[in-house]
Amino acid sequence: MALFSKKSKYIRINPNRSRSNERTVTPEIPDELFAKCPGCKHTIYTKDLGVEKVCPFCAYNFRISAFERLNIVVDADSFTELFTGIDSTDPLQFPGYPEKLAAAKAQTGLDEAVLTGVATIEGQKIAIGIMDANFIIASMGTVVGEKITRLFEHATQEKLPVVIFTASGGARMQEGIMSLMQMAKISAAAKRHSNAGLLYITVLTDPTTGGVTASFAMLGDIILAEPQTLIGFAGRRVIEQTVREKLPEDFQKAEFLLAHGFIDKIVKRTELSGVIGQILKLHTKPTKGGQENA
Ligand SMILES: [Zn+2]
Repeated sequence: MALFSKKSKYIRINPNRSRSNERTVTPEIPDELFAKCPGCKHTIYTKDLGVEKVCPFCAYNFRISAFERLNIVVDADSFTELFTGIDSTDPLQFPGYPEKLAAAKAQTGLDEAVLTGVATIEGQKIAIGIMDANFIIASMGTVVGEKITRLFEHATQEKLPVVIFTASGGARMQEGIMSLMQMAKISAAAKRHSNAGLLYITVLTDPTTGGVTASFAMLGDIILAEPQTLIGFAGRRVIEQTVREKLPEDFQKAEFLLAHGFIDKIVKRTELSGVIGQILKLHTKPTKGGQENA
């Protein structure tokens, strides 16, 4: 990390090198030991961030992986992954795209930018999708579109509520127009799920932008967001250059969107599981045979 990347004034002789007078000046401190908070610029011992990865000084929410998210949101051992093994066909034969996909898979342990399956939150069964911004900024290509569409179809069939944690840089440019078509495909599946009288909750996490905002992220019956989340369609600079106006400082932040009626509630990461659990309970109608989500 930058803090420790300054060259040390101390010189250590590396006995493994054949030239014994060679100087080794790189300190051996692992990158993941400390993190710099983008919110308040404090350097924090990563263990102090806790499993939720929230800054103890300013409550900034660090970006977390889909698996870390899963760990803090759903009931322990309740998740079953669905719709795996779908691969992109690289429709444009985009240079370097297969390599980029392979690297993202190796880095994240995911097969695409969204993790999909079924789980329970406070004992209530849901269909869940979690996007992971570490996978090509969770851009939406054909596989992301297909996985989320199948998630809605499965939920409609099984009469389950859907909870999706969005995070995305938008449509995946390497798949061109095929990416844009996913917006309509997912929206149609979400509409069929809605027509069946089923609940859909979206949780907007940092960053939720582009074609994801313009489709399923904003279609939730209830739209939640984490504090300070970047939510928008086009980037700030593009809008400023187009409208030739300076935009407010908090433009495209969750707090700005809440004040202007675009989202329903901002929920702290530490409270998300409880709030979603409560919403699910409110939307569950009792039946003769037990509980049924509606
Ligand atoms: Zn902070």
